[in-house]
Amino acid sequence: MDVKNELYYQDAYRTDFDSIVVACETTKNGYEVQLKETAFYPEGGGQPGDHGFLNQTAVIDTHRKNGAIVHLCTEPFALGEMVHGKIDWERRFDLMQQHTGEHIFSGIVHSLFGYDNIGFHLGEETITLDFSGPLTWDDLKTVETKANQLIWRNEPVEVLYPDQDELAAMDYRSKKELEGMVRIISIKDGDVCACCGTHVRYTGEIGLIKVLSTANRKDGTRCEIVCGSRALAYVQAVTDQNLAISHRLSAKVFETADAVERMQKEMLDSSYRLRGIILRQLEEKLTAIPEGTPLYTVYTEGIDTQELRKFLNRVLEEKQAGIAAGFTANATGYQYVIVSSAADLKPLSKLLNETFHGQGGGKPAMIQGFLTASETELESCLQNWVKEKAE
Ligand SMILES: [Zn+2]
Repeated sequence: MDVKNELYYQDAYRTDFDSIVVACETTKNGYEVQLKETAFYPEGGGQPGDHGFLNQTAVIDTHRKNGAIVHLCTEPFALGEMVHGKIDWERRFDLMQQHTGEHIFSGIVHSLFGYDNIGFHLGEETITLDFSGPLTWDDLKTVETKANQLIWRNEPVEVLYPDQDELAAMDYRSKKELEGMVRIISIKDGDVCACCGTHVRYTGEIGLIKVLSTANRKDGTRCEIVCGSRALAYVQAVTDQNLAISHRLSAKVFETADAVERMQKEMLDSSYRLRGIILRQLEEKLTAIPEGTPLYTVYTEGIDTQELRKFLNRVLEEKQAGIAAGFTANATGYQYVIVSSAADLKPLSKLLNETFHGQGGGKPAMIQGFLTASETELESCLQNWVKEKAE
């Protein structure tokens, strides 16, 4: 850590600076440019590296390589060239909101439950956090509330460089044993943590912390959070979603889940009713089927292939049909079952797969699968196959 050359340690809000190129190496990813000093933060401590510009040239990543900070650029620079650096501030400020928010959230989990943060990923969309013990959704909401209360108190976020004695007396979170100068990020009643990242000056700048999801893991809990502008974008998107559901179901915004549950129940009821009607219709059809028909086909919907198969077996047994084929419609095509008393149906399965981009298989006496075709197409395909077999 060299505070003199790393301008983001002097001032995390510095967006522009002038410097001199001291190295430029060509790599397969671009040009790795080193500067005398820089405000570009290199990836580290879970925080992604900065993007921005050196003069008119894009910096697409910043990271450390053998201790030096390299700016991955799309164009080369000459040694000694003067450059004006400008970091992508919108992106960096977002990362600062996320990173400081993560400290507060992890610090509060630590103080309330005693768990350590054992994993931190600051992604493009959300922050993923792993904690070393079980946390319920209600636990996480308690942490969320306390974290936001700390934001509203607008506490300063302090950067400390304690000496060895001060450090020994300090209670702070750290993922590893630290040597040399240690940088501590301290937030009153929130968190004390060793960290090399960039942070906002006051907690109020984070705006909002929102927990999105949680999952149990064998070594603890994984949760996802968003802070700042990402939290606002999330709330806006979820509100839009809920309003759309609310309009479509004519339900109040806080009653959409109940309305969906009611609708699901109604759909289930009507699908049971439909199933009953279809089964009665099939029963009526059965009596009208002439005995000994070589090929019987039926097109239906609202019943599953098991029920269809049961019906088709009755057609074979009670009406001595040669082949009985049933098609039950779904959103994209037909599920089908075909049964036979004597003919080997496996070649028919192959033909149906090839002709109608179907998927299916089975045994000589029963094939089933899925295909997309019209009734007319299926009818002529089956009739031809039966006719060819008979010749
Ligand atoms: Zn940190």
